[in-house]
Amino acid sequence: MNILLLGSGGREHALAWKLAQSRFIAAEGGTLYASPGNPGVAAHAELVELQVTDHAAVAAFCAAKQIGFVVVGPEAPLVDGLADSLRGKGIAVFGPSRAAAQLEGSKGFTKDLCERAGIPTAGYVRTASLADALAALDRFAAPYVLKADGLAAGKGVVIAESRQEAEDALADMFGGAFGQAGAEVVIEEFMEGEEASYFAITDGSTIVPFGCAQDHKRVGEGDTGPNTGGMGAYSPAPVLTPELRGEALQRIIAPTVHTMAQEGMPYSGVLYAGLMLTRDGPKLVEYNCRFGDPECQVLMMRLESDLGEYLYACATNSLSSLPPPKFSQGTALTVVMAAKGYPDTPAKGGAIKGIAEAEATGAKVFHAGTALDGSGTLVASGGRVLNVTARAPAVAEAQQAAYRAVDAIDFPTGFCRRDIGWREVAREAK
Ligand code: ATP
Repeated sequence: MNILLLGSGGREHALAWKLAQSRFIAAEGGTLYASPGNPGVAAHAELVELQVTDHAAVAAFCAAKQIGFVVVGPEAPLVDGLADSLRGKGIAVFGPSRAAAQLEGSKGFTKDLCERAGIPTAGYVRTASLADALAALDRFAAPYVLKADGLAAGKGVVIAESRQEAEDALADMFGGAFGQAGAEVVIEEFMEGEEASYFAITDGSTIVPFGCAQDHKRVGEGDTGPNTGGMGAYSPAPVLTPELRGEALQRIIAPTVHTMAQEGMPYSGVLYAGLMLTRDGPKLVEYNCRFGDPECQVLMMRLESDLGEYLYACATNSLSSLPPPKFSQGTALTVVMAAKGYPDTPAKGGAIKGIAEAEATGAKVFHAGTALDGSGTLVASGGRVLNVTARAPAVAEAQQAAYRAVDAIDFPTGFCRRDIGWREVAREAK
């Protein structure tokens, strides 16, 4: 069976790597196509140039190449309704409909759903004007959590330490700092605890747990400095104990999937829950309607089952026919190598060497923002450039293995954090 994978980051390289090993491709002679992909994805897939906003063109490609199913990596095409357009043409898709993708596309939608379904999350107010938002601040205390309703590439959340800072941030949001995404703002109660990510795949009725992870969002060591797309991650996250995972599944994921189905918006695809582990148990921080990046890289590094089978089963409502997926014991840890200046002004064009040497240490290097220049040299073409990923029995060993591989890479215009996994390494040492 032929498969089309959409996206261009480290997440998609990891998905392409696993999909290429799927029986659909490896044993049955199917072709994996990817658009636009990157030089890492090109090792596993035939790259094609498709305009993802042109749904008719994507559908025409699928018809011409007899694509068995489409895997949508990033959130934007899902929120834009690509899955609906393709399903309308009879093409199977891994990824939710536009209505179901609102779980990521509208924070207010998700908060309202949590309220209807009794899902534990922070108390909130949804506001559509600056005057309402300013008045609503009276119902909260510092630190104030303010969120632009729509997609803002990880930048739409402000945690304001003072009332003044909150008022200024609200003025910015309603003043258009996040465009249409800030036309509505959600104000939330501040939750205290450690964060962890929980993943489940579903076809709308059957729910299959698909691993957990912890990531590092801040650019600086010790989790300091500006937020980024993610500077590293590891899986599993031992802080999410089997009991807490059970609670998250029962009290958060299952009621979400069931309520969405009952309300005529069945959710199919991967449901990625950002959780806050509070004194009162896990509470939902946010939902994403796709795999995390770089969390996907560590999940794929541990996945022993055929990824293609699971994604296809989600796309064709047949997940109940599969056994639970197998993940390796031990830890996978990924270190993001970024271009200097990231997240504000990443230096593009810097040469990268030593990937083969890094992989000779046993690690796997996933490409994110890389490109080949005119002379065929691998160069940085984005903020986050490489995801250097290693596996070992314990977190400390996985960390050492990942940094051994990082040190084999020659990327003078790049940098990385040297402390990915620090919380768990410290806990292991106790
Ligand atoms: P965007 O929509 O811009 O992509 P996002 O989806 O990353 O942003 P969230 O995950 O909702 O936004 O919030 C970002 C971070 O802010 C969280 O990872 C968490 O650290 C913090 N945060 C969000 N909500 C709360 C809350 N209610 N209490 C405490 N911290 C919070």
